[in-house]
Amino acid sequence: MDPLDVMMTKEKVIPYYQPIFSADKQLVVGYEVLARLQTEEGDKSLGWFFQDKNIPDEYRLELDEHIQKRALDDFMGTDQSTFLFFNYDTSLLLKDNGDTFIKTLESYQQKGLKLQQIVLELKEDDVAEHFFDNKHFFYYIQSFGFRLALDDVGHNGSNLDLIAMFKPNIIKVDVSFMEDEEFPHLYSEVHQSLSMLSRKIGATLLFEGVSSFSQLNYAWRNGGRYYQGFYLRSPSSTFVEPGCCREKMQKEFHHFIVYERKKMEAQFTLTNDLTTQLKQTMKTFSPDDTYDEMIKKVAKDCDRYAFRIYVCDAEGFQQSSNAEKNDQKEWVLLEEGRFKNWSWRPYFLENIMRMNIEKRGFLSDLYTDIERDERIRTYSYPISDNLYLFLDIPYNYLFEQEGLL
Ligand code: CA
Repeated sequence: MDPLDVMMTKEKVIPYYQPIFSADKQLVVGYEVLARLQTEEGDKSLGWFFQDKNIPDEYRLELDEHIQKRALDDFMGTDQSTFLFFNYDTSLLLKDNGDTFIKTLESYQQKGLKLQQIVLELKEDDVAEHFFDNKHFFYYIQSFGFRLALDDVGHNGSNLDLIAMFKPNIIKVDVSFMEDEEFPHLYSEVHQSLSMLSRKIGATLLFEGVSSFSQLNYAWRNGGRYYQGFYLRSPSSTFVEPGCCREKMQKEFHHFIVYERKKMEAQFTLTNDLTTQLKQTMKTFSPDDTYDEMIKKVAKDCDRYAFRIYVCDAEGFQQSSNAEKNDQKEWVLLEEGRFKNWSWRPYFLENIMRMNIEKRGFLSDLYTDIERDERIRTYSYPISDNLYLFLDIPYNYLFEQEGLL
């Protein structure tokens, strides 16, 4: 279709609203406004019109303004208390210093619109392209009181530094690329980091493109507070009843929780088994055992769980060699590990403190062992107030048990 035709039939361009749901209340928390063209064959998406940078800026600005006004009329006419999300091309916004958009909002503000209910969506790639030359502009538009969402985050790999500086209120991640795939755990690692960063800078993580049960599960597991997608509700020309997905979400959350609980139980069981085993083994320690003799005894007794064992003091200095299982499944002592320091590792000191206070062993999260390049967990146990045992559990073992991956 020709862009000019769209402009000629502007009155047939109407807003559609895709509901966004919040995990905490399971209610509609907002709507993303999407442009649709009414045709004889039904309403057609106009996404292409706004993404095509060859279409003259004036056209796109004019149609944006048209859609925003239609949407704001609907929004205020039906007295919504939710957010309204508008997409905007960053370079268009920069071109007129945000004037068109801000003027539109201000004209509705006089009619009672609260700017805090408006969310402006800008694509991460576009913001990345313009941020460093226009920092003042981006801080300036944050001063009006509407919210900012960074859209399509992680599309081409994430710019964590950009996100930290831009400080969006909402971070939108599209999960539709995962359709029908076994989710590679790598995505999950990236989205977990994004979730941590969001938490640190006070942003809310929103997963969009949710079109299946497993994608909703993925969003829930990775710290998403808001969800958007066909699986919950398709866009429509009207606003929906806020509680329309409440029952469905509660039911799904229940499934997620039952499943996660089983995984946690498996981790507790393994922790307990290892603790029982270690207590037994420690009874065989004699006062003149060297640290290496101790870990050899542990290796013998914990053979089926471990591929690497060592002990550290409370400051993270390794006191023993590494006991490691070689390719022939024999335990060997590797001396070069001794006196290395591990206190720089994430969670290390926190873990030592917990062992010290609670006097019990802990199982780590799943992480990738640098040397073996495989996902492992580490079990740690306080042998004394100043001596801590670390036992690395291989992927193979975790894989064979239910719920440890
Ligand atoms: Ca969007």
